[in-house]
Amino acid sequence: MNDFYSLATDSLNEKYQHLSQRYQEFKTKNLKLDMSRGKPSPEQLDLSNGMFESLKSRDYHTTDGNDARNYGGIDGLSELKTILAPYLEVDSKQLIITGNSSLALLHDLIARAFIHGFITSPLPWSKLPVIRFLCPTPGYDRHFSICEYFKIEMIPINLNANGPDMNQVESLVAQDETIKGIICVPKYSNPTGITYSKETVLRLAALNTLAPDFKIFWDNAYAVHHLTKTPDYLANILEATQKAGYPDRVFIFGSTSKISFAGAGIAMIATSEANLNWLKKQLNIQSIGPDKLNQLRHVRFFKDNPIAVHMQKHAELIRPKFETVLATLEQELGSKNIATWTNPNGGYFISLDTLDGCAQKVVQLAKEAGVILTNAGATFPYGKDPRNRNIRIAPTFPPLSELKVAMELLAICIQIVSLEKLLKQ
Ligand code: PLP
Repeated sequence: MNDFYSLATDSLNEKYQHLSQRYQEFKTKNLKLDMSRGKPSPEQLDLSNGMFESLKSRDYHTTDGNDARNYGGIDGLSELKTILAPYLEVDSKQLIITGNSSLALLHDLIARAFIHGFITSPLPWSKLPVIRFLCPTPGYDRHFSICEYFKIEMIPINLNANGPDMNQVESLVAQDETIKGIICVPKYSNPTGITYSKETVLRLAALNTLAPDFKIFWDNAYAVHHLTKTPDYLANILEATQKAGYPDRVFIFGSTSKISFAGAGIAMIATSEANLNWLKKQLNIQSIGPDKLNQLRHVRFFKDNPIAVHMQKHAELIRPKFETVLATLEQELGSKNIATWTNPNGGYFISLDTLDGCAQKVVQLAKEAGVILTNAGATFPYGKDPRNRNIRIAPTFPPLSELKVAMELLAICIQIVSLEKLLKQ
């Protein structure tokens, strides 16, 4: 019998002794493993090394004859738009390509809302006493940090298998005009890996909100980051908002951070024509143009390495890591009834739930034995997981051999803390 709940106290005590011994053995190994962030591994980054060669001296002209070494081209190279628009499943006319970080674009967009307001805003957000956002949880800690930074009050919304709890969303936005937005990771979400269903996308697009300037921040960071041959399908939110009569409701974000180089890639934003014109005016004040040489480098590289094929190579490198995490969890914890975890079709994370009240202690024990995980609570607004149970596992960066050891240790920590809980009951 494997289920911890069906074991007598003596057996639980025996297991506890055995696991404590295994934990001490791990401690003597002096491990130093960091699994706290979802970063590409060096081997994944190597896939794009051709980019160092893709731009030769004398090869700096864009297809329309402009010199990419010089100022200008505020909304990005048209030839790069042609390559990247299908990645976000938008028309290249709906796209601005600028900068190296989609998170920075999101941050700046929210700053613009506070300073000037959106085209649908009666007032800049800074003139209002309170701004609230809906935050699907578990979610991405950096989204929550941006909200905290701008003093946006965060309202947690349960993220289910089909997306945020839409009954909750619909009822809240219909009653509260201070609710101005929702930040979503709609495909292979960070950290649970779920993709919003078509029904969820259509309901979000058609939300009847009290705030006239309610915005959907659609962070499609993992749009093409499939792990299987049967990728998830995400309905087109821009089309859906246009059909629902709210054409200016959504801003879509993307980047090549986990396609080419993290931090040295290309970031982009897609939205309605009116929003694009509003944004371009502000970008023109902010800068005389983005780094077009990096854009040109990406154009040349992706011409020879189509994104879909390139992403298959990424998948081949990271799939075995996801499989190792899942196999170790199954082997160590399967049917013990003390943890559940996700098995995503793409993205960068596996989300694990321990028994209520255990996550912080598990992360602490793992740390004391040399394995750093994302802080427990980080996947919730203000760093507070109300059930203290969610742990984000980021399998991509560590080498396979280290990952296996780290996961074994994590599974031991989960069992120890669960047993402590059960023995106290
Ligand atoms: N959005 C999500 C959901 C992410 O998980 C990440 C990185 O982990 C980012 C954005 C960061 O993107 P960028 O490098 O383009 O700023």
